[in-house]
Amino acid sequence: MIIYFSYQPEYLYDALHELIRMAYPDAALVRDNTGPADMEIAVNLKERTHIVSVQGSIKEGTRATAEQQGFELEMGEDGRRNEIKKRARTFMLRLLEKHLGQPVNSYGILTGMRPVKLIHRFLDQGMQKQDIVSRLEHEYRLQREKADLLVEVAGNERPCLLDPESARRLVSIYIGIPYCPGRCNYCSFSGAVLHNYRSELVPFLAALRKEMEAIGLLINNLGFKVQSIYLGGGTPTVLSTEDMSRLFELLYHRYISSATVEITVEAGRPDTLNPAKLRQLEKLGVDRVCINPQSMNDFTLLQIGRNHNREGVVRSVEWAREAGIKNINMDLIVGFPGETLRENMYTAEKILLLHPENITVHTLAIKRGSRMAEMGKAVDSAQRVEEVRQGVDCFAAVFRQAGYLPYYLYRQKYMRASMENTGYSLKGHLCLYNIQMMEERQTIVGLGGGGASKFVNPGDWSLSSLYNPRNPDSYVENVETLIRRKVDKLKALP
Ligand code: SF4
Repeated sequence: MIIYFSYQPEYLYDALHELIRMAYPDAALVRDNTGPADMEIAVNLKERTHIVSVQGSIKEGTRATAEQQGFELEMGEDGRRNEIKKRARTFMLRLLEKHLGQPVNSYGILTGMRPVKLIHRFLDQGMQKQDIVSRLEHEYRLQREKADLLVEVAGNERPCLLDPESARRLVSIYIGIPYCPGRCNYCSFSGAVLHNYRSELVPFLAALRKEMEAIGLLINNLGFKVQSIYLGGGTPTVLSTEDMSRLFELLYHRYISSATVEITVEAGRPDTLNPAKLRQLEKLGVDRVCINPQSMNDFTLLQIGRNHNREGVVRSVEWAREAGIKNINMDLIVGFPGETLRENMYTAEKILLLHPENITVHTLAIKRGSRMAEMGKAVDSAQRVEEVRQGVDCFAAVFRQAGYLPYYLYRQKYMRASMENTGYSLKGHLCLYNIQMMEERQTIVGLGGGGASKFVNPGDWSLSSLYNPRNPDSYVENVETLIRRKVDKLKALP
């Protein structure tokens, strides 16, 4: 389907585009009406001092839907633009829902990746939880259960957030190893499949050491301490025990101190694990590993291109326990083709038998570039959307019943059923890094392939970002420039 989308003024684009995309996830949205279109959506907003009026229409074949609204804005220039965008989003949501005859987004006009940030802002202003829920429901148009969930997650995170003074002193580190032993069919990750350890990893690790040396030295000189470290990917456990040891030598030399309270390694794919590797991680001080089954149904694991079965997951968790690793996270995904509530229930039961401290429930987001998208598996029927919703709800109910609390949450583009990804934790086992990274109240220095850095100003929690390329060749080629840019950003922190 092709949708022609026109709007005035220009700054409304961000505010409106994502809502239309959520309403019509498989449509191509064009802003140039030179070719044929199946549908036309037009929005026109006019400002006259305190009065703002907005008109909108949707034409689809012979069917047309129209709306108009006026509102008064008694405010100065500060915040006026944001308020207008918010009202325009509410207007757009109503227009789309009127045309479709059904809800578009369970998170109302919130379309961003980090909805919990808004709750922390409200809490900073001293708002009470029940007032926040009411505001989310009525002003932001969230469904009540989502409003409650966001407030609950923010409440669980809150004790882990840093005050401005601590945020001037403590940073966290992400190190990206952008290699995997094979490509899972649902994944659009633009790292690399590891074919030849020597020729591919040796230059990558040399570049990574260079970046770690330079940035580690600067962090110490600037007086920062590292609170948490996260080795992600890709799959960092593709590294040999020797290379992992060398990497940790550098971490202990430049980054780890008595202030470092958490070190996570993504050991995502069980086919990269063995008892010796897990014993080594524990000896190196790793206190959290992620062993990610995604599903505990063997037919699904085969279908999504994971090179392991359920037994392999169980064995890996047993090895990690025997090695003495304190915290295990397990990632699950709801929405794989062929999986319904029955398969989700089976996965939940098998996961609970392993007693992981953390469980992260993702909703399948089939992104462009993944094999599943190429195979045309991204289209959802209404029944399928309902099944995904039931799956997410089932996991939430079963894990809550078993004592897990939702402690961080984010959303992604192309998610099925307008849902969310939620991290659950047993009490006392919350992953600090996940919270800091999601709520953006601490500077995160991202190193290696795909490392994303967030430089946070604790004065007003504003931030700027830098991204290392995920592609290892491009990372190796550009590492000097990446170091220079990061140095400048770190030096500029207040
Ligand atoms: S292991 Fe993770 S990053 Fe690697 S291909 Fe599979 S889903 Fe993608």
